[in-house]
Amino acid sequence: MADHADFANDLTLKYMELGLATRRPANSDEATRFCVDCQGLIPWQRRFAVLGCMRCAQCQTKLELKGAGHAG
Ligand SMILES: [Zn+2]
Repeated sequence: MADHADFANDLTLKYMELGLATRRPANSDEATRFCVDCQGLIPWQRRFAVLGCMRCAQCQTKLELKGAGHAG
């Protein structure tokens, strides 16, 4: 039998899920929909998974292989 605490728990979980589903990085505007290197459209799945990403997966990989992402 569900009591008030269970109900509150369910409600909290629902709001957490809703918050996660609708969360956006601070700079997720039109500009960040496109890769800064190749100007290709960055898939929303990537933008969602990598908050604040500026490049498509291909350009990010190229950059990381070059080692430009590391200081020094
Ligand atoms: Zn790119």
